[in-house]
Amino acid sequence: MNKKEQIHDVIIIGGGIAAYTAALYTARANLKPIILCGVEPDQLSLTTLVENWPGFEDGILGPELIENSKKQAEKFGAKCIQEAAESFSIEKKYFEIKTSENSFKTKTLIIATGASARKLNIPGENKYFGRGVSTCAVCDAALYRNKDAIVIGGGDSAMEESLALYKFAKKVTIIHRRNKFRASKIMQDRIFKLKDKIDIIWDSEVIEVLGNGKSVTGVKIKNLKTNKISEIKTDGIFLAIGHIPNTKIFQGKIKLDNHGYLLTDKLSGTNIPGIYAAGDVQDPVFKQAITSAGTGCQAALQAEKYLEKLKAEGKY
Ligand SMILES: Cc1cc2nc3c(=O)[nH]c(=O)nc-3n(C[C@H](O)[C@H](O)[C@H](O)COP(=O)(O)OP(=O)(O)OC[C@H]3O[C@@H](n4cnc5c(N)ncnc54)[C@H](O)[C@@H]3O)c2cc1C
Repeated sequence: MNKKEQIHDVIIIGGGIAAYTAALYTARANLKPIILCGVEPDQLSLTTLVENWPGFEDGILGPELIENSKKQAEKFGAKCIQEAAESFSIEKKYFEIKTSENSFKTKTLIIATGASARKLNIPGENKYFGRGVSTCAVCDAALYRNKDAIVIGGGDSAMEESLALYKFAKKVTIIHRRNKFRASKIMQDRIFKLKDKIDIIWDSEVIEVLGNGKSVTGVKIKNLKTNKISEIKTDGIFLAIGHIPNTKIFQGKIKLDNHGYLLTDKLSGTNIPGIYAAGDVQDPVFKQAITSAGTGCQAALQAEKYLEKLKAEGKY
């Protein structure tokens, strides 16, 4: 049987911690998972020290954690193919995924394509990403002990990032484009109560990230009412302007929420039997490595159970 005719037990789409955890579990269940691990780096590959992954007292580097997880899954028989899924269809007896080079058929599918943080696309942002520019205060707040930090945004996540940061930082400044926040009232109240620790700059947008070649030193901002441009010194910038889940190819085929996240039940199932989702692609709330790995494990165990059911029903 050639590759085109073969119907795999499990295909996993994604190349992050959720995908490799699902791969580890399904490989250990002897399901020979294929991972379409994509062509872009996952989020852990973009970070430095991860201090909240259990078992590493002194933390572990994000790229090392992901590389080890991939090797661990491969050790048990998972096969990683460095191609991106470009289309997906639900056929009568299988799901089909196409990349630019290949087509894969599978009985179960685990989607772990993650979410990408929205960026501002301004000068300096990419250069200093991971060197002062961050998208996760819960992850990086402790690095800003007694330092200054800026949070950009006005929704609940900007409030949450600020609340995570103020416990460590000397001063937090929120910069927002409008003259009021979109965040829920309760979150806004929490921020307003911390006047001595959290400053707010209204009606302004950051137009450039400034640095010394090694790390962030400040930002250039523009007041949208007066057009006045000024500079503020800071050690860190946290982008809290939302995430974009990587679900484009599933639109109209699997149920998504209003923000484009895959909708899952408590057991990581989507609305399509046999299709599971794990990690940030289905998680608008926690967005952590450990929760991604946890749902990767759930998705894998559920896929295994589903395959047993198909077998018991004599469907394959
Ligand atoms: C700078 C930074 C620091 C962080 N620090 C921490 C921390 O200290 N602790 C913590 O717990 N969390 C941290 N996080 C969050 C954590 O990294 C994420 O929650 C977690 O890695 C999400 O894993 P995931 O597998 O769901 O998705 P991702 O890591 O987003 O991986 C998804 C993968 O799927 C691939 N993909 C997308 N579309 C396709 C497709 N069509 N076909 C094939 N592949 C596709 C992508 O290229 C990517 O490789 C941090 C995040 C960032 C950005």
